[in-house]
Amino acid sequence: MKFDPRKLKKVELHVHLDTCLSYHYLKKVDPQITRTAFNRQFVAPKRCADLGDFLSKIAPQIDLLQTSQAITLAVEDLFAQLAADNVIYAELRFAPLLHTRLGLTGEAVVETVLAAMHNASRAYGIAAGLILCTLRHFDAAASLQTAKLVIDYQGSGVVALDLAADEARYPLTHHVAAFRAVRAAGGNVIAHAGEAKGPDSVRETLDRLQVSRIGHGVRSIEDPALVERLVATGVLLEICPSCNLTCNLFDSIDDHPIDRLKKWGVRLNVNTDARTVVDTTLNKEYQLLHDAFGWQDDDFNRSNRQALEASFLDGDTKIKLMSQLNAGSM
Ligand SMILES: [Zn+2]
Repeated sequence: MKFDPRKLKKVELHVHLDTCLSYHYLKKVDPQITRTAFNRQFVAPKRCADLGDFLSKIAPQIDLLQTSQAITLAVEDLFAQLAADNVIYAELRFAPLLHTRLGLTGEAVVETVLAAMHNASRAYGIAAGLILCTLRHFDAAASLQTAKLVIDYQGSGVVALDLAADEARYPLTHHVAAFRAVRAAGGNVIAHAGEAKGPDSVRETLDRLQVSRIGHGVRSIEDPALVERLVATGVLLEICPSCNLTCNLFDSIDDHPIDRLKKWGVRLNVNTDARTVVDTTLNKEYQLLHDAFGWQDDDFNRSNRQALEASFLDGDTKIKLMSQLNAGSM
């Protein structure tokens, strides 16, 4: 039977709200925009020369997302994309403090996203949680402010604190207290690592932030002892293959370590990260892995079960969705 990624039910754990504005969304905001102009402004080249190249496609999306109305529309837009990918559970993420330029408070930004997420979740029948990101270049105060938002909205749909942005240029030091605060309040913590920097960044993140999942983490493959540690502790890697290629981490998909990590026994799942910037969908990512490594339905179903296990869903919903995944594709 021919492989068809669209039939597979999916779990997405790593997708940034502010990197996924679709052409459809932009047409609503600016009816004059052409596909060419959209691509030039928001889509990265297949190979970025450096991180600045990549980030320059995110900045104009953040510029747009400064009002409650624009943010609400973006959440609805993302859910339409998740539905087209047959996603049954998603954890969305963004950095609330980047959306306060026109006067919204951090609290108002989070409440806007949560309200839109709950509405879209009901409308599309897709369960969802919200992860708040602090950023590497934030100072300790901004990081703690983000941690406080995670703690304050824990019971309302916020499920974790994440650390994102430029790991190569900024250390963890300013963020240790924020992560400690969330953990002390019984919250979940995750972080980006092992992407721009090598295995040391993954080890440092595990040791100092005590995260249960790593965003990317693909460069762990450079250190067998670290891979063994990931296997032994069950820390899940949220892997985003096309994003890694766009950011020039590997020469081609054939060189990407996802298949080797999987065979080694590392828990991992497949994500888009930045749908618009990378010009991808989960269906495209699954097809890419099928074509490169021969992954079949069973491989994807297993990674989706691992994703659900490592998700921050409450127990009852997790059991319900696990039975949907086990029931197979539809
Ligand atoms: Zn990311």
